[in-house]
Amino acid sequence: METDTITAISTPIGEGAIAIVRLSGPKAIPVTAGLFQGKNLLDVDTHTIHYGKIIDPATNDVAEEVMVSVMRAPKTFTREDIVEINCHGGMVAVNRVLEIVLGEGVRIAEPGEFTKRAFLHGRIDLSQAEAVMDLIRSKTDKAMSVALKQMDGRLSELIGQLRQELLETVAHVEVNIDYPEYDDVEEMSNEMMRSKSKEVHAEIEELLQVAKQGKILREGLGTAIIGRPNVGKSSLMNTLVQENKAIVTEVPGTTRDTIEEYVNVRGVPLRLVDTAGIRETEDIVEKIGVERSRKVLKESDLILFVLNYNEELTIEDEKLFEAVQGLDYIVIINKSDLEPKLDMNKVNELAEGKPVISTSLIKEEGVDEMESAIAKTFFAGELDAGDLTYVSNIRHIQLLKQAKQALEDAMGSLDMNMPLDIVQIDVTRTWEFLGEIIGDTASDSLIDQLFSQFCLGK
Ligand code: GDP
Ligand code: ZN
Repeated sequence: METDTITAISTPIGEGAIAIVRLSGPKAIPVTAGLFQGKNLLDVDTHTIHYGKIIDPATNDVAEEVMVSVMRAPKTFTREDIVEINCHGGMVAVNRVLEIVLGEGVRIAEPGEFTKRAFLHGRIDLSQAEAVMDLIRSKTDKAMSVALKQMDGRLSELIGQLRQELLETVAHVEVNIDYPEYDDVEEMSNEMMRSKSKEVHAEIEELLQVAKQGKILREGLGTAIIGRPNVGKSSLMNTLVQENKAIVTEVPGTTRDTIEEYVNVRGVPLRLVDTAGIRETEDIVEKIGVERSRKVLKESDLILFVLNYNEELTIEDEKLFEAVQGLDYIVIINKSDLEPKLDMNKVNELAEGKPVISTSLIKEEGVDEMESAIAKTFFAGELDAGDLTYVSNIRHIQLLKQAKQALEDAMGSLDMNMPLDIVQIDVTRTWEFLGEIIGDTASDSLIDQLFSQFCLGK
């Protein structure tokens, strides 16, 4: 298969001083060798790293001092030749090196294209490929460890086990039907089928339950800051960003149609969204009314609702309370350093038991309490991401839901005492949906599989 050579900036997640220009494909080594002042990279051993300089061929200038790793196919992530140019000079230098490389007939990679190649070359299975994609997008260490776990094949393993159970069940029915003379094979009863289906169904449900948290860990807790003008929304935003260092993960080719800022609050990634201008909203209710505000605010996973301690509660504040009713929000009473004018009894009443936190953002007071409250809303104080196998990928979630539905259909047929060879059609569908998660084509002859799995005592 003829492939071209691709390149992209691969920025380490978190604050890394080093950024990498990665190339993969047949031209990776010759192109880099042509730009490199140092050892002749065409001659070096595989999996070695070399100090030198990248020369801009247009000007003959030294563009950047670099360390270059050379990895030859097939023992690489993509199973193609890979070169990694480690630049120390920050984003400007890295971009310059990328531009130089692009001038040499190398193409910019699509997001996830390295991973796609790894998958196409059989290096990883589909769920692992998707885990890598999630890793690329993951915004915090916690999300990253989840993605890493999945990459280790934990999800694949679990799905594999569930499929095995289903397969054995189907095989059992098949054998009963096709070989009634094998009376040493116990007959699969309606009851046995039901208890197997129930077991697998429960496992699928559990996977779906943790999926939501996984999604949030991966994508961040969509957070809106609301409140009347001048209560301190911008100050809150700045405090969160400064205290928690915004996480920036640039993936080339990624375009975002909304402005998003990521901050990591005690392991919880907040995505401060500016969709439809709700990130910092002064007059959302004024502008679009309570009902529509609610609709917009419902999209957020968390709302930080700021009030001014130094002012009496206004009609607008009450309207905002109305708009957030029943949603996940935290009330932040800011400007606690000033004279109290806010009716706290009234506030507590309107807040329906949600956390009410006092802050003075100007004096940096109450910030810890606020951050604890944020973390608590998400983790409820107990969840440890590292212990869970997450299914956080939309496609996986979709397939799991389909598998669950198919299994429920089977269970429904069992309830109606339908013959097992009818029931097993839905069980087989469940098996197929689960197979799609790990990229096993459903069309692989089920019968072949059945008989390789279920030995008839021969
Ligand atoms: P926004 O309009 O809601 O975004 O409010 P800002 O964050 O722009 O703040 C409005 C004004 O209130 C600014 O002058 C801030 O310096 C001030 N401010 C913010 N937080 C506090 C606080 O905790 N105490 C006091 N005294 N002033 C504050
Ligand atoms: Zn503001």
